[in-house]
Amino acid sequence: MNILYPFAKRFIAGEDLPTAMKSIHNLQTSGYLSTVDILGENTLRRDQAEQAQKAYLDLLSQVDKESLPVDFSVKITQMGLDIDRDLCKRNVSEILSAASGHTVRLDMEGSDYTQQTINLCIELHETYRNLGQAVQAYLYRTGGDMERLIEKGISIRLCKGAYKEPDTIAWTSMDDIRTNFLTQAKIILKEGFLPAIATHDEYLLTEILDFVRKENISPRSFYFEMLYGVRRDIHKALLDRGYQVRIYVPYGKSWLPYTLRRLTEKKENLLFVMRHLFRETFGLSKIN
Ligand SMILES: Cc1cc2nc3c(=O)[nH]c(=O)nc-3n(C[C@H](O)[C@H](O)[C@H](O)COP(=O)(O)OP(=O)(O)OC[C@H]3O[C@@H](n4cnc5c(N)ncnc54)[C@H](O)[C@@H]3O)c2cc1C
Repeated sequence: MNILYPFAKRFIAGEDLPTAMKSIHNLQTSGYLSTVDILGENTLRRDQAEQAQKAYLDLLSQVDKESLPVDFSVKITQMGLDIDRDLCKRNVSEILSAASGHTVRLDMEGSDYTQQTINLCIELHETYRNLGQAVQAYLYRTGGDMERLIEKGISIRLCKGAYKEPDTIAWTSMDDIRTNFLTQAKIILKEGFLPAIATHDEYLLTEILDFVRKENISPRSFYFEMLYGVRRDIHKALLDRGYQVRIYVPYGKSWLPYTLRRLTEKKENLLFVMRHLFRETFGLSKIN
């Protein structure tokens, strides 16, 4: 699947730590915060889960050596949830313990894992107050999950959701997803602990900025979070207006599932990839 790597490069900060550190430095110099994700999910072997955890510990020690104010994003299936819950819990606990000066957020994966992710987050948060949770506005259940998280003082990142879910459990039309996103965003902005609004949707951002102004919510009390390589114009516009902008920076060799989610999220991305591959395969380059 290396054929897709040229497209992956737009969305990831490289395949290894030294390359990713360059992007983290560049973002910091430009005034952005970052939350770093080491790519990988649905790990099926113990040694792979342990290696993935060690990669986070190596990243952390590098970040601490340089005193960088970086957050971390972790997937619990990467830490071994499908193999053994205790292994996963131990792996995440050790990251949280080593990262006590940083926020670590659990990404939210497909709906098979929603309940387990929320449960693990609440359980671990009892000991590790630096743990936060991502939630997905497209799921009907998210309002209820957010109530539990807010009650426990857990920092929430609200995003739309990136997996294919059936309409029995999730809104599938963009209008409905936006409506729920806005409802939940207003709740975390008013009641949440250091919430993060994770979207590049200009309609939602305009509504949220309007709400923040009307409600006199301080720009320092929440974060906008955006994906590396997506809508840099919006990152900059929000930063220039005095908001805190945190970029989600993924890196690592297991870039394929993440890249496929990004490529399929936007029709133009897919068309671009297909046109490019078609031209290469059939030698239709305009320059002969
Ligand atoms: C910081 C952060 C963390 C996230 N964590 C999770 C998580 O834990 N679990 C999860 O399920 N999802 C996560 N997501 C992904 C999220 O659920 C959406 O899939 C993704 O953000 C696109 O949705 P959007 O709100 O930007 O709206 P969209 O309507 O998809 O996009 C709005 C506009 O942004 C631009 N855009 C968005 N995506 C792309 C793209 N791939 N390529 C090019 N342009 C694009 C386009 O201009 C588009 O019109 C995260 C997103 C962010 C920003």
